[in-house]
Amino acid sequence: MLSKIGRVKVIWSRPLAGTPKTVTLRHEADGWYVSFACANVPCVHLAPTGQEVGIDMGLQSFLTTSEGEHIENPRWFRASEKRVRWHNKQVSRRKPGSKRRKKAVKDLATVHQTVARQRLDYQHKAANKLIANNDVIYHEDLQVRNMVKNHHLAKSISDAGWGQFLTMLHHKAASAGREVYAVPAQYTSQDCSRCGTRVPKSLSVRTHVCPECGLVMDRDENSGCEIKRRGQRLRGVPGMPGAESPAREQNRESPAF
Ligand SMILES: [Zn+2]
Repeated sequence: MLSKIGRVKVIWSRPLAGTPKTVTLRHEADGWYVSFACANVPCVHLAPTGQEVGIDMGLQSFLTTSEGEHIENPRWFRASEKRVRWHNKQVSRRKPGSKRRKKAVKDLATVHQTVARQRLDYQHKAANKLIANNDVIYHEDLQVRNMVKNHHLAKSISDAGWGQFLTMLHHKAASAGREVYAVPAQYTSQDCSRCGTRVPKSLSVRTHVCPECGLVMDRDENSGCEIKRRGQRLRGVPGMPGAESPAREQNRESPAF
């Protein structure tokens, strides 16, 4: 029962949990959606796994973990871009106010909706997997918005929707009793995750080769390991090797959490 509207029929996607506080109506390409924000939703904490993971959010793969697992980048938007462009053109070709224009606008909205849903679904699955397998997850403090301003990277970054993904990851972790930490992102792709030596490399160099300790590792996997290492150091996880010189430590930024 909604005030000023009256009774509405809904199709429930899943049962309500907790106490509903607010109701939001949203109009999408294929109809109206009702969402309930609920309080006192019971948390289901997952059993500890004893595992911690660092994730590198990249352009090559959407994610690479410190365990060397690549979660590939679904370029939904790139793939659908042609379709979007085509539908955009259709809209601009139609006479304003015409029936055919209305139809073209609706089709365009449907394409956008499909892409958004595919992306969301993909991100849910990736986040669930990380949370199921790990007690603690470390990621770079990306300041995604600043990076998006950099035009060259912008497309891939908005494709991957990292900001949306991280928000989701933090929420899911909180209700599953897992921990997620952001660590300073500077030089995570350059620094050796074993000995801490800075090994400068351009974006095209895909393998980390450390001249100091001899570590040879996939570039993104090394970043994942470095992110995990930084996170564990900042949290003061016992048994972390203090491989860095004190001078470099002073240059480190304060923890982002
Ligand atoms: Zn090294």
